Amino acid sequence: MRKRIDFICPTCKNKKRITINDEYNETHIVKILDRSIFNIKCDKCNTNIYLDYKFVLRTPNYSLSYGEFEDVDRICSTYDDIKEKILIYEDKLNDCLIELSKRKIEHDLKKELDLRYDGIVEDKLVFYSLKEEKSYSFNKELYDYYLNKYKVEIIKNTEVNSSNYFKYIKD
Ligand SMILES: [Zn+2]
Repeated sequence: MRKRIDFICPTCKNKKRITINDEYNETHIVKILDRSIFNIKCDKCNTNIYLDYKFVLRTPNYSLSYGEFEDVDRICSTYDDIKEKILIYEDKLNDCLIELSKRKIEHDLKKELDLRYDGIVEDKLVFYSLKEEKSYSFNKELYDYYLNKYKVEIIKNTEVNSSNYFKYIKD
């Protein structure tokens, strides 16, 4: 879908209407992760403008949306959320079990960290704390143990986060 967005350039005050594509595929993942899909140039004064907008990412293996879109695996309400889900799905992990892993880290350390999955380094899952601005690692073995132990419901068109993930995990 092509979508029209109106905005005013902060530098030259030029009123602009631009058309953006809000449907992306696997070839756009790098640009989504480095946020360059949000960079728009004012054609009058050449200022780079950062424009945050909602979009959907559909790959052959999964689909994620930032904002409400139909027929997706997961709906995300913030950019940080969709960025995290992309990393999780690209690494072929399960987001409910990733939430469980985060809960385990917070429980062991007895503090709230607002963790986001950030990738795998050797045999460790790496989580970034938005609260403390530092990384925490988690044994991949323990994640694999969860994977073997629990049954995770297959869910679609849902937002999965720290406050609801446990509903989808069964012993
Ligand atoms: Zn301008």
